[in-house]
Amino acid sequence: MPASTTAQFHLTRATSPAPILTRQNILNNPGFGKHHSDHMVAIDWDVHQGWYDHRVVPYAPLTLDPASLVLHYAQAVFEGLKAYRHPDGSIWTFRPEINAQRLINSAERLGLPELPKELFVQSLKELVQADRDWVPSAPESSLYLRPFMIANEAFLGVRGADQVAYYVIGSPAGPYFASGVTPVPIWVSTQRTRAARGGTGYAKCAGNYAGSLAPLKEARRNGCPQVLFLDAEHGEYLEELGGMNIFVVQKNGTLVTPSLSDSILPGVTRASVIELARANGHHVEERPISINEVRDGLSSGQITEMFACGTAALIFPISVLKSELFSYGNESQVAGPVTLSLRKHLTDIQHGLAPDTRKWMVRL
Ligand code: PMP
Repeated sequence: MPASTTAQFHLTRATSPAPILTRQNILNNPGFGKHHSDHMVAIDWDVHQGWYDHRVVPYAPLTLDPASLVLHYAQAVFEGLKAYRHPDGSIWTFRPEINAQRLINSAERLGLPELPKELFVQSLKELVQADRDWVPSAPESSLYLRPFMIANEAFLGVRGADQVAYYVIGSPAGPYFASGVTPVPIWVSTQRTRAARGGTGYAKCAGNYAGSLAPLKEARRNGCPQVLFLDAEHGEYLEELGGMNIFVVQKNGTLVTPSLSDSILPGVTRASVIELARANGHHVEERPISINEVRDGLSSGQITEMFACGTAALIFPISVLKSELFSYGNESQVAGPVTLSLRKHLTDIQHGLAPDTRKWMVRL
């Protein structure tokens, strides 16, 4: 590792940024993942020099050799976090050092190099400084930041790349629920799993998402926007959604979430929900939860709420868990009080509307 882990970035300003009116129209109704800000961060790596050529450049397509390792063997990892504009106009992000560490862990699993944590956080600052006008100020809106690392070495043999690139792009994001937080039905994938013991489930790597897409299509065909995966060994225990962790809330206020393992992505939101819930007096259990426990708990009234959580949608309530074989829960369920209060507390901290007593926010 170099002595200093922060670097001098060279800025090349976009010569044709989006016109102000276009940008304003986008920020008024950004949706998710459809638009991008004017710049991107890029850093190269090779096995001899380490990280070099740190730069902020106009957002543009990448040039990749058709033999690039990433295109054939999916040697790619990524992160997702957000830049929030606070009422005084300042811009902040949420617990980026956890994403930085997760990127290191993901990269290690995929045979990719370590991007130092300080450089990760600096790369976010560099992009946001160039694209401050792209951070929306409307409630629950943000600039979604997508750091990613790919093996761009041109080589068809199967081995870890000697040449890699890291980028950060930004995409304005609107509220997940445009008109009120309403519970969402979730499809349970009973035939296909996401991750197994010893696999890559805990890593945020491209291949995990590729494997979740056919089950997601199945979910959408069945009217569910997201899919829940069960464990690969027994097909019995809840793991997580394709892009979110899951919690159930019991009648007595206890929160239960699947314990972390090498087949579950350790969510920043999950960790924060656990901490906030405990601070608010809830008992939180991290342990295996079987789908039968959920079925029985919902029918006896022992389980009163279910929710999913992740950076993109933050927290959404779940109405039913269903598959071709069953439907557990109540389609017309309204959002529960525990889900809503945790959601509000976390949103308020992120958007600068509640005190950040844990110093979770980092200024960009
Ligand atoms: N699980 C998976 C598979 C995910 O892709 C994500 C999103 N990163 C999460 C859980 C939630 O993680 P976080 O709260 O850090 O966004």
